[in-house]
Amino acid sequence: MLDNRRYFETLHSGYGQYFDIDTILFEQKTEQWHLIIFENATFGRVMALDGIIQTTERDEFIYHEMLTHVPLLAHGQAKRVLIIGGGDGGMLREVVKHTSLESITMVEIDNAVVEMCKTYLPNHSNGAYDDPRVNLVIDDGARFVNTTDERFDVIISDCTDPVGPGEVLFRSEFYQGCQRCLKPGGVIVAQNGVAFMQPDEVTTTYQRLGHYVEHCTFYAAAIPTYIGGVMTFAWGSDNKTLHQLSIDVITERFNRANLATRYYTPAIHQASFALPRYLVDALATV
Ligand code: SAM
Repeated sequence: MLDNRRYFETLHSGYGQYFDIDTILFEQKTEQWHLIIFENATFGRVMALDGIIQTTERDEFIYHEMLTHVPLLAHGQAKRVLIIGGGDGGMLREVVKHTSLESITMVEIDNAVVEMCKTYLPNHSNGAYDDPRVNLVIDDGARFVNTTDERFDVIISDCTDPVGPGEVLFRSEFYQGCQRCLKPGGVIVAQNGVAFMQPDEVTTTYQRLGHYVEHCTFYAAAIPTYIGGVMTFAWGSDNKTLHQLSIDVITERFNRANLATRYYTPAIHQASFALPRYLVDALATV
């Protein structure tokens, strides 16, 4: 982990990345995690939980734009959004850009992550918590989706890797709960790891989420911080066509939403569902 002003990520065995630490801004054992936020000359401010890099100022926009605008623009009529996890606030910042939404619920397990990221990564949330449509709930996301009476058009799982408190967000019970509180025609998307390095995550999610939705697939984006190839995002819906909208429809919705983006474009949206052969083959074995 921390060695001579370097932070070594411990996600993969026998392969990894490190970041030089210019300044440690915050480091503490919270209720759930060992949380550290530090400054790095290349990536800006970096946040890690239990030895795993979660987000950096430099490239977070790719991840947050893709997990927000792809499902919301594909849905086209979403009014109510649920974010699971997302304690750094970046997902909330992108979701509140959609002025047509009526309510946004975010369920994060550790309030310390929210508060420390507001303080030390302020550009992530950029004031989004002050939006009157936002309701922050401090709870376990898996418990929430299996108990809430609320129903949502889009669910975004912005979770940690499937270890520690985040492990429940990859279980069948979680996907069953999501299906339970998803409105007809709704979409669930979920952070699903880097497929080349974590292939089991893709096949397991395909099996588990696929059991509860009519249509399950994945889309992808390369995010430098998540090393080892492209990150995959799981996609589930009872509408089998939402992931295949024409570029004209996506462009019309994107223009109507009047979104300022740095990575997302309608062409990237459409192309992100094209999967490499090794993934297509892996999914065919499930
Ligand atoms: N972008 C990151 C990635 O790809 O690894 C995810 C970052 S976000 C900070 C993940 C958040 O999920 C954390 O704030 C963590 O506290 C939260 N989380 C983990 N397990 C959870 C659970 N069971 N319920 C709700 N939130 C959870």
